[in-house]
Amino acid sequence: MKSGNSILAGYGTTIFETMSRLARQHGAINLGQGFPEGLEPDALLREAARLMNEGPQQYAPMLGLPELRHAVARHARRFYGLEADADTEVMVTSGATEALAACLFGLIEPGDEVVVLEPCYDSYLPILRRAGAVPRLVRLTPPDWSLPRQALAEAFGPRTKLMILNSPMNPTGKVFDAAELAVIADLLQRHDAYCLCDEVYEHQIYDEARHIPLITLPGLRERCLRVGSAGKSFSVTGWKVGYVTAAPALLAMAARAHQYLTFATPPALQGAVAAGLDWDDGYFQGLRRDLQDRRDHLRAGLEAAGLAVLPCRGSYFLTADIRPLGFDDDEAFCRHITEKAGVAAVPLSAFYPGGGTRHLARFCFAKTQDILDVAALRLRQHFRETSS
Ligand code: PMP
Ligand code: GLN
Repeated sequence: MKSGNSILAGYGTTIFETMSRLARQHGAINLGQGFPEGLEPDALLREAARLMNEGPQQYAPMLGLPELRHAVARHARRFYGLEADADTEVMVTSGATEALAACLFGLIEPGDEVVVLEPCYDSYLPILRRAGAVPRLVRLTPPDWSLPRQALAEAFGPRTKLMILNSPMNPTGKVFDAAELAVIADLLQRHDAYCLCDEVYEHQIYDEARHIPLITLPGLRERCLRVGSAGKSFSVTGWKVGYVTAAPALLAMAARAHQYLTFATPPALQGAVAAGLDWDDGYFQGLRRDLQDRRDHLRAGLEAAGLAVLPCRGSYFLTADIRPLGFDDDEAFCRHITEKAGVAAVPLSAFYPGGGTRHLARFCFAKTQDILDVAALRLRQHFRETSS
């Protein structure tokens, strides 16, 4: 038998699928894979059901339904003052994952270099490498995950085509501030590079943190592709509806790949998301408040179980140092708690393609308070029993 693609073969099954399967096998509460529970808005589900019944049932336009593209543009104007032309600067995709792939396949020429901050979301490396790019990894380190300015500057060079920036950041919960964004902006301009901005957690932002899309900085309007996800903004990750906003020339590059990857996205889901994006600010503030409460709730529970929890200002995730519980291997720890305590988490080493950091585990707090309570209780009881 001839072998398949060697780059993809090297990656195996994703950590999210692996941990979710293990959680199902052991009847564990799944705080591993990042998906919300108890936050799905009824009005969104009703609108999708209505549209599903009424149709149309056939292919949507390749760039997305006009009503969704206009809603994406209005949302960007309302929250960030970003003006985008719905006809030439917005494209709907089947999830942010497809948006990222379409942008990478559309922009990368074999041999290009792509700057990636690690820890990073798991789809970046396999896709950019499959597109022929060479990754230049720059490592952020806990507990503050600050931008290593010198290392970042050294990663840029004449072959840099683009950088990928994920803010708010999975899995660290970091939100890049104005000063850090200015450093990135300067490098992009000096090296004539683009930035693929993964902003799927734009509405998962807490405390005094503020999300600033890089595309809104002076001089970056023509350099950035901004990616969003209805899965995250409306707590329906199974829907896989995403969107890209970029200047016409950049969007056209991504569209050339998108038209051969998925071409279009289910129209009923697009229509419902279009309605949701126009909801008043109260919906988005409520989501933020609700998730912030859940974050605080899980933090207290994990600390009571003996974990040292790191700060988190965005995303769905808390990261915790496992060493106070006597572990120094995050994979072993995550398997252990899934099988023995009935709570699944994800090892942070899975987000470090360059290897390294093995003392942190990621827990998803986008769950009901009841689920978070039971998970925390299970961990507390398990570690109390094993230490006595
Ligand atoms: N980027 C990041 C950082 C993510 O965490 C996720 C999903 N959790 C995605 C992209 C993909 O989003 P979608 O489910 O819309 O494909
Ligand atoms: N993005 C989600 C996470 O970080 C998972 C998405 C997936 O399973 N591919 O947990």
